[in-house]
Amino acid sequence: MTELKDLVGKFNSYSPHVDPTALELAWSFADKAHANQSRASGDHYLTHCVAVADSLIEWRMDLPTVCAGLLHDTIEDTPTTEAQLRAEFGEEIAMLVMGVTKLDALKFESRDEAQAENWRKMLLATAQDIRVIIVKLADRLHNMKTLNFLKREKQERIAAETMALYAPLAHRLGMFGLKSELEDLSFAYLHPEEYAELAKKVGDKRAENERQLAAAKAAIEKVLEGTNIPCRILARTKTLWSTYKKMERQEKSFEDIQDALGIRLITDTVANCYALLGIIHTHFKPVAGSFTDYISTPKLNLYRSLHTTIMSPTGELVEIQIRTEEMHRSSEYGIAAHWRYKHGEAAKDVHMEEKLNWLRQWIEWLQDLNSPREFLDSLKTDLEFNQVFVFTPAGEVKVLPAGATPLDFAYAVHTEIGESCVGAIVNNKMVRLDHPLKSGDICRINTKKGSTPKKDWLNLVKTARARSKIRHYLREQGIVE
Ligand code: MN
Repeated sequence: MTELKDLVGKFNSYSPHVDPTALELAWSFADKAHANQSRASGDHYLTHCVAVADSLIEWRMDLPTVCAGLLHDTIEDTPTTEAQLRAEFGEEIAMLVMGVTKLDALKFESRDEAQAENWRKMLLATAQDIRVIIVKLADRLHNMKTLNFLKREKQERIAAETMALYAPLAHRLGMFGLKSELEDLSFAYLHPEEYAELAKKVGDKRAENERQLAAAKAAIEKVLEGTNIPCRILARTKTLWSTYKKMERQEKSFEDIQDALGIRLITDTVANCYALLGIIHTHFKPVAGSFTDYISTPKLNLYRSLHTTIMSPTGELVEIQIRTEEMHRSSEYGIAAHWRYKHGEAAKDVHMEEKLNWLRQWIEWLQDLNSPREFLDSLKTDLEFNQVFVFTPAGEVKVLPAGATPLDFAYAVHTEIGESCVGAIVNNKMVRLDHPLKSGDICRINTKKGSTPKKDWLNLVKTARARSKIRHYLREQGIVE
């Protein structure tokens, strides 16, 4: 188990100006709270809390998130109360722990449609703080790593859930390293025989692969000599699960799968990415049609890199990805990489647009999961939505209470917009001013110069802000007392 001083040291290596006292307090709080508990492995329960915090630190999360990682099971598994957490650690950390506890309250017994629907609603309800989801992913990662201590039946259920829900979620959040890890861990339990067979074959082939990679790497290093472009060269290996899926898809055996070697070139600036590409294409023959520029046109999940495939001097195909250090980090850690700029005020605005894109895409994705079934009424939790996220045409997000109407939205944008509102267009359709808004809606307000608030508007609004502005206007005009 990582020791406290190592955990603090690692945290401070990327957050040098943050006082880690809360981390130490959270550690001893968790230690005491779980004192008499152990894991199925026989380990002290604290090892689990620390492993979760360790992952969060690896993903460079902020202080409240790492503390929440240490404390994430205190509400569910110990007599600790929410009030206690709030008193000891403040509102933010308590809120994160409660968020994780709420997610834990839902158990997915099967992979049926209704479950996906519950999941989707639950995520939406917590979308206001994605850090809750990230703690949950760190929790799941450690549970998967220690799954061998559980009964076979439980292993299968948890692995299936990880494959169906958590790995796709990590993927969607751009946490590709985590996604692959979760998939390979699940694979081992879901298809143990296939896993063992494939692991052996990959192992047998490793020596040959490594030799080819080393040769390709040396050839590339040689042409980069004397260019003054800083460059790290990394070899890339396919995960077992992705190889297995490819075999299934192409209906081929492992021996018949043609997998190109993968290499990554990591440099400092975007200009140098293109410079490296130029050098590579000058010295090696690119495969026609293989070049893709995800820097000028990032993927939907904001992935950026240059991709090209070349023929090595020894005749092997080599897939090359070229990116900056920053692109590399964000492709490994995804949304987590964006989140940690939270404390840098200057950096905040630059990254706000990216975060907003994440949020918007996320909501779109959740709405893509088409499930015809109603949210189970039997679900007696307070996870039902109490907030909706509505976008302006310019992409700004407004958080409103559930049931909020275009009038609330108009006042949330600006009092003047609210006061001169004459109509609303939601997702390109004209709606009435009492139309309830949903998360992900894009709302455009039509205004008319000289138009003024009406008395019946007081019945149409849900927010205190809109109500008080309307009342204020009506009182000024002597329309109401
Ligand atoms: Mn846990």
